[in-house]
Parts: sequence; C-alpha cells; structure tokens
Amino acid sequence: MNRGRILHHLRSPLGIVTILLLVVLVATAIAGPLFFSDRAREISVDALQSGASSEHPFGTDALGRDVFARTLVATRLSLVLALLVVGIGVAAGVLVGTVPVVLGRRAGRAVVAGLNLMVAFPGLLLALFLAMIFGVGARGAVLSMAIGLAPSFARLTHTTASSIAGADYVSAARMLGVSRWRILTRHVIPNISEPLVVNATSQIGTALLSISALSYLGFGVQPPAYDWGRMLADGLPAIYTNPGAALAPSIATVLAGLTFVLAGELLTQILGDGHHGHLALPRVTSGREERPAAEPERTADESVLRVERLTVTVPGEGAPFSPVVDVDLHIRPGEIVGVVGESGSGKSLTAMAAAHLTSFPNLADAEVHELRGQDLRAMRPRDRERLLGTSLALVFQDPMSSLNPSLRVGRQLAEVAETHDGASRREALERAVDRLRAVLITAPEDRARQYPMEFSGGMRQRASIAMGLMAQPALIIADEPTTALDVTVQKEVLGLLQRISREAGAAVLLISHDMAVVSEIASRVVVMYAGRVVEELPVGALAAEAAHPYTSALVASIPDMSTDRSVPLANIPGRPPHASALPPGCAFAPRCPRASERCTEERPELVELAAHRSAACWHPLVDASMGSAGAERAV
Ligand code: SF4
Repeated sequence: MNRGRILHHLRSPLGIVTILLLVVLVATAIAGPLFFSDRAREISVDALQSGASSEHPFGTDALGRDVFARTLVATRLSLVLALLVVGIGVAAGVLVGTVPVVLGRRAGRAVVAGLNLMVAFPGLLLALFLAMIFGVGARGAVLSMAIGLAPSFARLTHTTASSIAGADYVSAARMLGVSRWRILTRHVIPNISEPLVVNATSQIGTALLSISALSYLGFGVQPPAYDWGRMLADGLPAIYTNPGAALAPSIATVLAGLTFVLAGELLTQILGDGHHGHLALPRVTSGREERPAAEPERTADESVLRVERLTVTVPGEGAPFSPVVDVDLHIRPGEIVGVVGESGSGKSLTAMAAAHLTSFPNLADAEVHELRGQDLRAMRPRDRERLLGTSLALVFQDPMSSLNPSLRVGRQLAEVAETHDGASRREALERAVDRLRAVLITAPEDRARQYPMEFSGGMRQRASIAMGLMAQPALIIADEPTTALDVTVQKEVLGLLQRISREAGAAVLLISHDMAVVSEIASRVVVMYAGRVVEELPVGALAAEAAHPYTSALVASIPDMSTDRSVPLANIPGRPPHASALPPGCAFAPRCPRASERCTEERPELVELAAHRSAACWHPLVDASMGSAGAERAV
C-alpha cells in the first residue's frame, strides 16, 4: 500500500474525525482511572442524586459520587472487555473457519454445516444463554459474548478462505506439494486478514454495546467494579429526576461505538485502495549447484506428457456430465503445443487435469497419464507430488492471482526451492533473483524485495513464469497467459516462453482461445470443441489446410494486415453447446455450414488424415487421400 494514499485517507474528514475520537478514547481509558479514581469513589451524603452543576457536570449517583468522573474511570474497563470479546471471538472464529481447509473434505463439511446452524441462531440470545451457564460476572459475560461472535467470524473466514483456496497461487502451491498447514499459514490466512481486521474493528463497537447490555441486565460486571452498562443500570431508575446519571454512560457508549464503526470504515477505505529463468538456464545460475531432477524413465516416443482418453466429469443439476471426453495429448521435449477453442470447449479443464489438479467434486480419469515417462496414476501421492512439483510449471491467465499478494516476490519464488530442493533461505533467494533476471526483469535484486502489486501486469506474468522455472520444469502449462496483457507485453511473454522452450528444452502446453496467439509460437495445434479434440495439425497448415470447419472458422476470425476493416470480422454464428446438453451427432453441426443429415445423427471420431494430422469430421475440408502436401479443398 502506497504511503501517500494512506496519508491521503488519514487527512480526509473521516480520517481526522476518527483519529481524534480514537485519541480521546484511548487517552481517557489510560488517564481516567489514574486521575479520576478518587473523585469517582468519593461519597457525598449531602449530594445524593443531585442534578447537573458546575461541580458535577452530570450530577451524582445514589451515593453522591460524581457521575462524570465515574464515566471517565469506567472507560478503561468497558473498552478492555469489548476488546477481549472481539479478540477471543475472532481467534475462535478464525480457528473454526479454517478447519475445513486443514481437515479432509468430510470433516470440513460437518464443520461448515455446524457453523451455518450457529450463525442462524441470534447472537445476543446465544450470549444470554451462555451467560447463565458461565455465571454472572465480567468473565462469563466476555466468554459468552465471544462465543456468540465466533460463528459469524468463522463463516467469514471460511468464505474468504474458500475463495483464496481456489486462487491460482494456491493451486500452484498444491501442485508443488506444499502441506495443507503451510498453505493455510502462508497463503490463506495472510490474504484473508484484511476483511477480518476491518470486520473486527467494526465489531468492537457492537461488542461494547452488547457487554454494556449484559452489565445492564445484571449478567456482566458486578459491584463494586463498574463499566458503562453497570452505571446505566444504576442511573436508569432515576432517569426522570436525575437524567445525567444515565445520560453520561449512554453518551460514552454511543461515542465509543461510533468511533469503532468509523475506524472500520476508514480501514475499509485504506485497505480497499490497495487492491483495485532460464529454468535450468545454467549460465544465469548462482549460488550452490542445483540438485538435478532424478533422471526419468523415457517412454518409447520420448513424450514429456502423454495423456490418453482423458475424461473429466463434473456434477450437474440433474446428473453428472463430462465437459472433457476422450482427449489425447502428447508433447515432446522442447515442443510448443497450442490448445485452442472457444470458452467452454474444455481446454482449461484439460490442462488442469493434465497437471493432476482436478479436485473433488470434479473427477478426472485417463487410460494413460504419464509425465516424463512415469505413470502418474500408479505413483504414491507423495512421489507424484514431488514429480509434479519438480517437472511441471503452471502459468495462469491473471498474473495478479498467480502470485500471493501478501508475500514479497522473491520470497515466494524462493519457497519453491526451499520446499523441493531443500535449499537454504539464502540460496533459494539467490536462485529466485537468477530466475527473475532470466525472465528479463531489470534490477532483479530490488524487484525480489517488492510485493506483486508493485509490479506491472507484464512483470507479474514474467515473475509467475520465473516461479515456474525455479524447479527446472520439463513441461510448462500456460493457461491463457497473455489474455490479461496488452499487445506489446503479450509479445514479450510469448517470446519468453519460446526462448525458455528453445534454451532449456522445456515443452510448453499453451492454452488459448486466441488462434493468433497460438500460431505465433506453437508448432502444433490441438483444436477442442465441446470437450473433445476435433482437429490436430501443424501450425503451418492452419491458414490453408485446416480440415475441420470449426478450425477453419477460427482461422477466418483472425484479422491480418489484408483484412478489410470496413466490413465486420468473420465470426462463427451461434454459441457452443453446454457440455450437459450436447446434440446427438457432431456437436458443431448446429453452427456448421457443411452439416449434413449424417452429421446430426452420428458423431465423427478423430481419425488420421495424414502424417501428424487428424480431424473429427464427416466432410473434412481437406481430402484425406491428398495428405497435407498440395492439399485441396474437398468439395
Ligand atoms: S461432421 Fe459435419 S457438422 Fe461436424 S464439422 Fe464436420 S461437416 Fe460440420
């Protein structure tokens, strides 16, 4: 957060009023008991229940004690009790709210169900009930109020933690084999602290009112101790003859409550304003010799990734359905393969399943799933996590969500080396700086000390690529890595992926909806539609030799220098079908200009048309017998 912006908020009318009120409140809590205790205790039989006067601005109570002095003295106890309520309530809430993240799925669900039940129960009623169990007195009041407050914080924690748990950097951490506890403490809790702090601040005012209410009802602070609620209980019976005795603690309670509500509002504004490598490139490595990854077995075709008949099934409203069906993927070392298709074609789900990142309730299944020649399905979870963590790098669409906003960039890169290579803190940081330099980030030593929000969008994406390079990956899965970037930065990032592939021999699986992006660096293209691969071809054949009408339509929608800008760009009429309601036959038939009756009845299988070329179409645009060379458009 920019210091100038913080000052800007603090100097605003809201900031000035809040700070003034907080200073007065804290000063009163500190100085009140020090300077006014004697006066507050002084009994005057000559001035019982007297009205306001110059000597007693709010009159006296039933024992002739000065109400104003007692109100000032009671500030400390009232505030301390409210702070204790919120402190205990928030701590318990965070503890319970994060349990579902740490525990398994079933235990987590039980906790969430219990939470929902408790939140539905009125908090004050629950506190009153608990106060009777704990017994009268300040301790019982604090505990009962804190327990009454905890469920709402637990649910807030659970909701925000769940959203963070789906973030790309948490997925990446899971893939790297980082433990649940470490994910919780390093990635989840730091990123949910802001809403918790803001809510906790606002809740202090509510806790103040509630604890005063309990004291007023006789459950809270007991004589001779007194807080504002206790004073209110003493002063209220004489409200018509001596209003000052009830008025003073009421005004104090309202002002203190207002102060914390304003403080919460100010915090919201301040925090809200803050959001709005050669991989294994040996020549840039510094520090100790990096531990080489275990030499993997090789499959006959030397594929880095080999997936066959991959199907992903997800729950639906009526029955489960499969947005990815029978997908085959093979990638060789140093090869860049593009996977293209419109939104909903299943390409990202395919990528996540290939990275073994499909999580319940989604289920992925494949007949073959090998990474660097090792069967991921047959491996022990621990070995699989290690292999994935050291061999696979993920680059996501949103560079901001790829990096943990609460950790310095260098630190989060370094954690990869610490987790997988057992590198010391210093060695890991040196390697992080190397990787930042390798992805062309200038002044990498300085940049490593900065937070992601201090990076531009392009730098963040390069930093997330650098993070993937910390563990010398054999395969980089880049899911829409340039979608959030402007054209110039897009070119830089694509160039970087290409360089990494060339220099380090890493294979790249590039997922994109943009055919132009894929054709820029990929050598082979896999086209997906409605969850299936409908065509696979070399990138050079895209322009003139696409066999599938869908591929051809995607290519036609890319503008180039010769595109007539006076007419609208070609687009594909209609929308892709939802995976849960696919038409019989070819899924593209409702949008296809070549569709025949057969197309609407029988689904075409993916068949080889020529070497390195296959398509799933009854009426391909390329005559199969001609092969790729000298292809002509079939009539
Ligand atoms: S099978 Fe028929 S409907 Fe499907 S893409 Fe080919 S020609 Fe079009």
